[in-house]
Amino acid sequence: MEYSSLKYDTMLDIVPIPAFQDNYIWTLHDRQHAVVVDPGDAAPVRAYLDTHKLKLAAILCTHHHHDHVGGICELAQVYNVPVHGPQHENIPCISHAVGEGDAVAIAELGIRLEVLDIPGHTRGHIAYLGMGAVFCGDTLFGCGCGRLFEGTAAQLHHSLQRLAHLPGDTRVYCAHEYTEANIRFALACEPGNALLKQRQADARALRAAGQPTLPSTIALERATNPFLRCTEAEVIRNAERQAGLELAPGNEVAVFTALREWKNHFS
Ligand code: ZN
Ligand code: FE
Repeated sequence: MEYSSLKYDTMLDIVPIPAFQDNYIWTLHDRQHAVVVDPGDAAPVRAYLDTHKLKLAAILCTHHHHDHVGGICELAQVYNVPVHGPQHENIPCISHAVGEGDAVAIAELGIRLEVLDIPGHTRGHIAYLGMGAVFCGDTLFGCGCGRLFEGTAAQLHHSLQRLAHLPGDTRVYCAHEYTEANIRFALACEPGNALLKQRQADARALRAAGQPTLPSTIALERATNPFLRCTEAEVIRNAERQAGLELAPGNEVAVFTALREWKNHFS
């Protein structure tokens, strides 16, 4: 199935190409040129570009996991385009290694994206920020966050805090459709959060209509995502109860660590 365009403005559409079970390959285009983020599979991207008669201008990559990079070499070869990716990770076919402080300019689309280092899920994970949008891979999810595969809890917490401090209306384009399951966990952390209940109803309605729950916004994540709410009394209380210990007051990283652990075996 194909999702309809999510309008950014009159110029650029940002569309998710579904891949594998629950990945989204976000595609920015102006009806002529396109950029894809984290193409884990080349086939659905090639099909989409063909159908819509789009010319690929560049590939962006957030981290080295296979479901994000698996299609890069084929696409780079077929379309002969630059591939931007994290400088601290080893990813085949990257032509432009980028990191904190760099910017990626895509002349065909007239856009410029800033690069942020957001380690934790992987050691070299990066995000792309621009046009009021952030492409954050597997770091911040709709109502959740990525697993700790390579970094420390403190690193991931710090990375998430950086994202949380972006303007509230920044749209969050993450790479997986995990929102509904994440909301179930969030409700266990914070059953009293009315906005969370609203978000659950909204997400259910979107999924029932075959639509993605993304993008969300930084404001919505701040209001409902437990991993951004490590200073909320109810979140702390439930994290403590679950971990069976009392956490030192004011230790956000300890709360975050307990939440991340809890989520790992929550079902
Ligand atoms: Zn990943
Ligand atoms: Fe992933």
